[in-house]
Amino acid sequence: MEFPHLKPAGEALFRDQFVVKAHELLRPWKGEEVEGFSLVGVPLSKSSISHSGASFAPDSIRDAFSYYTTYAVEEDLDLRSLRVTDLGNIRMHPTDILLSQRRIEETVSALVKAHRQMIPIFLGGDHSISTSTIKGFASGWGQVGVIQFDAHHDLRNLDDGGPTNGTPFRRLLESGTIEGKHLIQIGIRNFANSRPYREYAEAKGVSFYTMKEVRARPIGVLLDEVIRSLRSEVDAIYLSLDMDVLDQAFAPGCPAIGPGGMEMGTLIEAVSYLGKEEKVKAVDIVEVDPTKDIRDMTSRAAAYLLLTFLSSKTS
Ligand code: CA
Repeated sequence: MEFPHLKPAGEALFRDQFVVKAHELLRPWKGEEVEGFSLVGVPLSKSSISHSGASFAPDSIRDAFSYYTTYAVEEDLDLRSLRVTDLGNIRMHPTDILLSQRRIEETVSALVKAHRQMIPIFLGGDHSISTSTIKGFASGWGQVGVIQFDAHHDLRNLDDGGPTNGTPFRRLLESGTIEGKHLIQIGIRNFANSRPYREYAEAKGVSFYTMKEVRARPIGVLLDEVIRSLRSEVDAIYLSLDMDVLDQAFAPGCPAIGPGGMEMGTLIEAVSYLGKEEKVKAVDIVEVDPTKDIRDMTSRAAAYLLLTFLSSKTS
């Protein structure tokens, strides 16, 4: 006997034969060589200065892809034939943060060396993960430039807390992984930083653009300037997206929410611009805490930005 109106549990309530949902682009890795985009979850947030459930974000961002279709109407581009290989999540130690950070670096290093054509997308986690992912990435790529979208410099001293989400870029500079002139920070904002860290950035030759500078001109013009100085200097560019660069109105699920931040449209335009840059070979998205989010707004914003990155890199 057949029951045509019964559907398996977990299957979508409604299917339209002409619509492909974006989560269908994600394919579990079966051990093959990865030549295009990959997702790697990095669920570490015990290293966060403030309370953070960002370790839940890799899975919530994956789930948020299901809110979207594969079709970019603005470009008349359908991503339905694109494949994003989902490598899963890096296993964290329950208590040992340093060991977890070592696992991230070792895993990323091994992955980029084994899959030379892979463009990894790292789903954090708090921002401390970027030290480890960038170290691992640089071991396969050589001289790496970093474009960091962030409300904060993340250049805090290490004596007062060690390898937290306040120190990732200081650790990269002090370990010699990247040079100061190859680090560009965009979206730094008022009452979220301290003068000694601005002075540290200046002393190291780090370029940074405050929100006032971001608001003053189109983001494409600003990025033209950034890319022109970086492109000829480095072998690859790593894009680090701290979602707290966004104003709290757009990203309520970040541990460090605040006003005066970037508008979502500006960040979408920036990611679209940078996706077209050939030297951009990796991206991370960090500081999404699904336990504080409202209607998955921040996870949805993260998934939307990643779809924007995929579409601009493919077009
Ligand atoms: Ca940050």
